[in-house]
Amino acid sequence: MSGNYDIGLMGLAVMGQNLVLNMVDHGYKVAVFNRTTSKVDEFMAMSECKSKGDNIVGTHSLKELVAQLKRPRLVMLMIQSKDAVPAPDIALYPKIAAIDAVIEELIPLLEPGDVIIDGGNTHYLDTERRTKFIEDKGLLFIGTGVSGGEEGARKGPSIMPGGTEKAWELVKPIFQAISAKVGPKNDISCCEWVGARGAGHYVKMIHNGIEYGDMQLICEAYWLLKHALGYSNEQIQKTFADWNKGELDSYLIDITKDIFTVKDKATAQYLVDLILDTAGAKGTGKWMSQLALDLGTPSSLVTEAVYARCISAMKDERVRASKVLKGVSSNAKLPADFVEQIRKALYASKICSYAQGYVQMQAAAKEYDWKLNFGDIAMLWRGGCIIRAVFLDRIKEAFDADANLENLLLNPYFQNVVESAQGAWRNVVKTAIDFGIAVPAFSTALSYYDSYRSAVLPANLLQAQRDYFGAHTYHRIDKPGEGPFHTDWINERQ
Ligand code: NAP
Repeated sequence: MSGNYDIGLMGLAVMGQNLVLNMVDHGYKVAVFNRTTSKVDEFMAMSECKSKGDNIVGTHSLKELVAQLKRPRLVMLMIQSKDAVPAPDIALYPKIAAIDAVIEELIPLLEPGDVIIDGGNTHYLDTERRTKFIEDKGLLFIGTGVSGGEEGARKGPSIMPGGTEKAWELVKPIFQAISAKVGPKNDISCCEWVGARGAGHYVKMIHNGIEYGDMQLICEAYWLLKHALGYSNEQIQKTFADWNKGELDSYLIDITKDIFTVKDKATAQYLVDLILDTAGAKGTGKWMSQLALDLGTPSSLVTEAVYARCISAMKDERVRASKVLKGVSSNAKLPADFVEQIRKALYASKICSYAQGYVQMQAAAKEYDWKLNFGDIAMLWRGGCIIRAVFLDRIKEAFDADANLENLLLNPYFQNVVESAQGAWRNVVKTAIDFGIAVPAFSTALSYYDSYRSAVLPANLLQAQRDYFGAHTYHRIDKPGEGPFHTDWINERQ
């Protein structure tokens, strides 16, 4: 038996609900289900839902959901990616992920050619594994990143699908219809096929890691405006508003500008000043950083951004330390154009952050044999998602000009921006040091730039140390192609 609904969606929390409404707005008929079935009834009773008539049907079991669908069936899961549930064989597997439990239940209800879609923030290795597992059952699998939060899901998210390539043609019309659109004619979809198996979720993870870097850089700029320049919230708001008109034009700068306009009704104080300075994280930034270490690619901005959240969370300890450890009081004179210097430092650092993210994706693509199109990826992020920004057009142009570009910093546009920003960038980092203001993201970006542009680094000494204590050997610049060499450093001492 088959029904006449185009797609089924399980998971009626904020993302699922909004995606359903978005799909219906684009002419698709959607069947919905949620583990806690009362939420299905609550959703169906919402006026926005009722206004869609029979384009949405509520169901109370996976079996009912599947029965409502056209063949081949498309079942999308928008459920918590991390939650673990008791496994059927408790002795062997004490816990399995919620998504695996749902997939196990779904498989017997489906037929060859049907598609399971995971739209959650899943670790790419789980998606690699699930693609194979589901394909072995004769079904197709899509593991897709979806970015843009509640508003994106409702009005047009950025969608980054990977998995079974054969499934792409089946989900493409719906995904491209509901995704954000960009370009002069608003006809470039922020949804394209990313690559096999876990590629979509890997790219979504890089998106989130870059988001961490962008947010940290903006916070450091804010802190310099506030504590080096002594700016009021009104001045900070105006500065971000100005920055949003130029190269830094982006969603995150835009919302930051808005944040500095909001006052708490009860106290009439700016709300931002009343918010406790301890940041949380859901883990995708940490994944990117861990995986960069595994690949040996230096994604230092996301790592510093994760650490910045970790140290922010040590609030009580920081308060105790602040009473013991003294900083410096600076009377350094700031240049008249210091605000513009911060802007340039922010843009140059942001470019380094994206350069690192792209290098990590290139290394991962090689490792996992994914055929990633890096220009297309920039366009996936151009609209709908949290890191959407005008400058992504420049990244697209850079990869269009050279699909094998080793590093964004080597593209003439980015090279020119970073080179011409570097006087300001160096002064901003020096000033922060003078004032005792922590700028881990600005400074790691500059160190990355200085390391990357150095033909020679002090790793010669490092190799000598390793050879001294561990006989790890080394190669010689005067004997290329020979070696490795080892020296008995103790007996050679003079
Ligand atoms: P969420 O809070 O991450 O998850 C809640 C949903 O998961 C509910 O429908 C819940 O059902 C279901 N669920 C939890 N455990 C389950 C289990 N063991 N079996 C079946 N269903 C289970 O919801 P969300 O924020 O809408 O996010 C959905 C997915 O999208 C997540 O993977 C999230 O990481 C990802 N995502 C979220 C955002 C965002 O901005 N929120 C952005 C991009 C991607 P019950 O009602 O029965 O508890």
